[in-house]
Amino acid sequence: MDRPVDAPSLLIVLEAGLASTFRRRIRDRLESLGTQVSVLDGQGRNYLQVEGDIEPLRTLALDSWKGVEKSVFIGEAHRHGSRVDSGTHSRVSVGDVTLGAGEFVIIAGPCAVEEEERTLRLAASVASSGAHLFRGGAFKPRTSPYAFQGLGDKALQILSRAREETGLGIVTEIMDPRDVEKMSETADLLQVGSRNMHNYSLLKELGMTRLPVLLKRGFSSTAEEFLLAAEYILSGGNPNVILCERGIRCAAASRQVVLDLGIIPELKKKTHLPVIVDPSHGSAESYRVPALAKAAVAVGADGLLVEVHDQPEEALSDGRQALSPEEFKNLVPELKSIHQIVSGGQHVKQEGLISAPGGEDI
Ligand code: PEP
Ligand code: MN
Repeated sequence: MDRPVDAPSLLIVLEAGLASTFRRRIRDRLESLGTQVSVLDGQGRNYLQVEGDIEPLRTLALDSWKGVEKSVFIGEAHRHGSRVDSGTHSRVSVGDVTLGAGEFVIIAGPCAVEEEERTLRLAASVASSGAHLFRGGAFKPRTSPYAFQGLGDKALQILSRAREETGLGIVTEIMDPRDVEKMSETADLLQVGSRNMHNYSLLKELGMTRLPVLLKRGFSSTAEEFLLAAEYILSGGNPNVILCERGIRCAAASRQVVLDLGIIPELKKKTHLPVIVDPSHGSAESYRVPALAKAAVAVGADGLLVEVHDQPEEALSDGRQALSPEEFKNLVPELKSIHQIVSGGQHVKQEGLISAPGGEDI
């Protein structure tokens, strides 16, 4: 039977001297689960090589089956997001902006949409500084139910106006699977926040669309869990997934957050999906953001998500980590230079980089 070279398989090491009736029983059980099993011999013992749809077997306690010494899964569980060969990187289009495959994209804006005038001013400011997409939360997943929860539908209207005025595509967070249709009218890129990386109903719902999704890493999630969350969207048939590292929780770190830059090369090795970095939530303090933003570009991020606010001390959420419009403007050409070095001096195609190059949650 032809099978892709990277298809995962399962090897089961049987106990030495296992009676053939036991071996037959294990084999029958595996085949009844829809797999193909062959018996291999070596060094005086038997092995079972299991192929076909082995994914459901990952959750079984195979090692405790009578006669099984151990089971070894070969290959990754995340099939749709896995790289097929060393040269493959996919692109995700958000309107006329492309993420992945050597392009470099900056998403910028306030944590939350606040009053209209301020939001439009910020959108115009980040656009003129070289941002490619404008962000702002309408529905905020706050740690405390008493903290500002976002302006909701009113914020969506303001974001639509920001797009009309600046031409920038809109990035905003979705929390509820029932909101997909409504939010897709405003959002060009739907963000799934760190707290919702495990919201499987939401991921499945987004998998049934073709909408571009920015999936943020759960702040206590491993790379494997992150990729499997992406797999929920990809396996539903939606290939338009962008991953975002946003810092992980660490009790010993300043403000309990560490930006895990090491995951960027790891994800690039394991998946073809574009990978961006959010140095704002990954820093939690604005003075650390420029340094970590530059480091993120240096380790190969395909883009950045940066929070910007014109009066951080008055911001209704995440003011402490927001760059001022001026700081953002100064940072963009530096990011551009670093990206050009990292990409081997290749021309940066997308406009923007060429021309110019409150409350707190963790
Ligand atoms: C945000 O982007 O404002 C946000 C809430 O991010 P995270 O989900 O990474 O905490
Ligand atoms: Mn925020």
